[in-house]
Amino acid sequence: MEPLITEPRRILSHPSRKAGVPSDRSSSLGWKNKNAARVGHPASWAVLAGLLLIAALPALAQHATEPQLFSQSAQAVLERDFPSPDLSYLLLDASGKVLAERWPTQQAVSPGSLVKPFLALAYGEQHGGRFPTVRCRGTESRCWLPRGHGNLGLEEAITQSCNAYFLELAAGLDRQRAAQTLARYGLAGPAADASADNLAGLGDAWKETPLAWARAYLQLVNEQQSPVQSRIVKGMLDSAKRGTARSVDAALGRNAALAKTGTAACSHTPHGAADGFTVVLYPAARPRLLLLVRVHGVTGAESTRVAGAMLRALGAGER
Ligand SMILES: [Zn+2]
Repeated sequence: MEPLITEPRRILSHPSRKAGVPSDRSSSLGWKNKNAARVGHPASWAVLAGLLLIAALPALAQHATEPQLFSQSAQAVLERDFPSPDLSYLLLDASGKVLAERWPTQQAVSPGSLVKPFLALAYGEQHGGRFPTVRCRGTESRCWLPRGHGNLGLEEAITQSCNAYFLELAAGLDRQRAAQTLARYGLAGPAADASADNLAGLGDAWKETPLAWARAYLQLVNEQQSPVQSRIVKGMLDSAKRGTARSVDAALGRNAALAKTGTAACSHTPHGAADGFTVVLYPAARPRLLLLVRVHGVTGAESTRVAGAMLRALGAGER
């Protein structure tokens, strides 16, 4: 298996200065460039043009003033630094436009616990926005955490991606009304005969295209003025800080992003133990980028490390 994250080659520690771009605080990011040794070669104008693009990228990630340029640069950086065929990703701007992608097919996928926020939205609509407190007893509650999460409400259940909590929400949900809620987020929803487990992200009877999942998350976050949505977003903020997606803030800084993880049965041939999914919205306060990743052969929590490194490579985060 190829490494998912290639180690930085600090050939140019200050590429922005070499490329004649005004220095800013992100110029110390240590951009990698395989072609750096060729600067000075007759064809070096092309390399310099590339450096200009890449050097401009961190600032663009923060200001997004030149979407087209950012999109080209982002695609180039991600292709260069994250070449593993085990990694699939979609990078969207806040409007839902695709900035960069590598996803072999746009075939519908079951992203495990990435479905949980949308189950919560459907549940909230059917219960006047009120959510229960649920006691997770771990293995006996069919949760992934053997010792259990104890008592938790909606926010903490999102943060910890507790199965027991969402199995409880899924039980007794009106499927037809849920389908109407999900349709407003551009989601087809699970098959009519899918079990309650599938509504909670267990099993694989709830499939949507990667783009549909990504855009549904954008809409959810854009609606965070609404009470239920704001609670889900709080859970995602804490997930990146201290929950299943904590590798995100570890890479990008405290309260940097909103995130959710999912672990699904592997859909590849040959089969791996699992496919890990992470969705990250950055920056947390007013997201301008959405990154959805799928990493073959790892859990959702492990895929989060890759997502954090990718955003870091795009200039996100503090240093
Ligand atoms: Zn639990």
